Amino acid sequence: TRTPLIAGNWKMNLDHLQAVALVQKLHWTLKDAKHDADSVEVAVFPPFTDVRTVQTLLDADKIPFALGAQDLSAHDSGAYTGEVSGAFLAKLDCRYVIIGHSERREYHAETDEVVAAKVQAALRHSLVPVICVGETAEDLQTHGASAVPVAQLTAALAGVAAGTEVVVAYEPVWAIGSGQAATPEQAQDVCATLREVVAESIGADAAERTRILYGGSVKSGNIAGFMRQPDVDGALVGGASLVVDEFAAIIRYQK
Ligand code: 13P
Repeated sequence: TRTPLIAGNWKMNLDHLQAVALVQKLHWTLKDAKHDADSVEVAVFPPFTDVRTVQTLLDADKIPFALGAQDLSAHDSGAYTGEVSGAFLAKLDCRYVIIGHSERREYHAETDEVVAAKVQAALRHSLVPVICVGETAEDLQTHGASAVPVAQLTAALAGVAAGTEVVVAYEPVWAIGSGQAATPEQAQDVCATLREVVAESIGADAAERTRILYGGSVKSGNIAGFMRQPDVDGALVGGASLVVDEFAAIIRYQK
């Protein structure tokens, strides 16, 4: 009974004009294909500078996509030059915010403590955190697939109240942008383990409701295999979310 979630993380791509073109084309492509918007939730995660523009477009054209940001500040306001508050994102109708993406962890030295603080910041503003976890190729060699994601998720959920809505994204670092996706069985294994972590942290009922996504080289050709897994409830898509026909085909994985 979990509604599948297909999320497009644009990363640092598409200015606000390109964002409008992509969202409009995607909307019309799905409409032409008579896609049932209630069967799969679609979310887009543009760069900060596009968020207001995309909000306006979704609202004006009644486009049924959820909106999210790719990061937020751990702080709510004040002297934090260059940072963006969850309060601002909430005012722009963002429903989601990605937290702890491996590119933030790697290039911006985001630790598990920073990630946990950002999860709390998101929740203060009623944003649903999309908590990203995943092991590097080296972690996989040394500790196996689930040890690092389990530790990361446990840390991120510390202090989160029972029953809170969160989304988890399992993104093996070695699969991101590499063209080498995990197998559906690998994804299922780790996602099932992560669901146990959610259950221990915020309760069995919440775990049953929590969407756990797979991310890393998701394409129209491999999405169906992931979606057949009982503990994979959607995908966090990078590169393929920038190509309208490809992303539309991923959203329409049941067809
Ligand atoms: P790719 O789909 O480009 O591999 O990126 C995955 C990702 O990092 C989504 O957050």
